[in-house]
Amino acid sequence: MEEKILETNSPEETFALGRKIGENAREGSVFCLSGDLGAGKTVFTQGLAAGLGVSEPVSSPTFTILQVYEGGRCPLYHFDVYRIGDISEMEEIGCEDCFYGDGISLVEWGDLIEAILPEHCVRITMLRDPQKGCDYRKIMIEDT
Ligand code: ADP
Ligand code: MG
Repeated sequence: MEEKILETNSPEETFALGRKIGENAREGSVFCLSGDLGAGKTVFTQGLAAGLGVSEPVSSPTFTILQVYEGGRCPLYHFDVYRIGDISEMEEIGCEDCFYGDGISLVEWGDLIEAILPEHCVRITMLRDPQKGCDYRKIMIEDT
């Protein structure tokens, strides 16, 4: 397992980090993003999408759990499971085809569906630290 701890001080820096990771991500990878509301999960996702070459705007899918972006070098399956009622909803959506397919999956609030995440995924945890200012984020990346 590899673990990295990074820090950003603006949304642009978090976007740039996401873009770099998107540029280098292997097809079939699954990213699990954790962190409170406003931590920067969607900003990171927007960067990752840009890194894959997606030109469509990427938003927080408030009422849709899954949004698919086809415009990049491989499909991006963007899940936001914040409002998921039951883990079985994930199966109904066809998450297995995404997780074990040739695209890249990214799950905001992925810790809520821990039980069905693939064994190998990249876990990214984003944390604020009020003492370091409102734009500071600590970003931990674990590759399992
Ligand atoms: P989440 O998806 O985790 O709920 P968002 O990405 O939607 O969070 O929102 C993050 C908010 O925090 C945005 O308004 C963004 O401008 C702001 N922000 C401030 N500093 C940062 C930073 N270092 N990284 C990411 N977002 C930041
Ligand atoms: Mg979000």
